[in-house]
Amino acid sequence: MNKKILQHFRKRLTDQLDELHDKNSQKRVTTLAESEQAPDFTDQATLETDIDMNIHIKERDSKLILKIKQALERIENGTFGICETCGEEISEARLEARPVTTECIDCKREQENQEKLRGN
Ligand SMILES: [Zn+2]
Repeated sequence: MNKKILQHFRKRLTDQLDELHDKNSQKRVTTLAESEQAPDFTDQATLETDIDMNIHIKERDSKLILKIKQALERIENGTFGICETCGEEISEARLEARPVTTECIDCKREQENQEKLRGN
């Protein structure tokens, strides 16, 4: 993969990382502000549900953050865009759609088929 394309993906990944950090810090501010003005029990309960949901979203985001960081590491060590399973190059179209991916479409499909087989 040439340098220009790697730069392109590095920028996309770092932008996405920034976005996630911004989103999470904004959310924290909102939650704090809301908790200060929760006068009765009902509001308090709703608030707790909101916080629960925020934690779920946060868990999902932190998994994504980890994936993005790993993708950035792969860019640094020169393994970005190479399938972890078969060692072939992952198509650029696939990386464009999902830069954090670690498998080529063939391996991904194979894996999904295996999961379906196990499910039945
Ligand atoms: Zn593969």
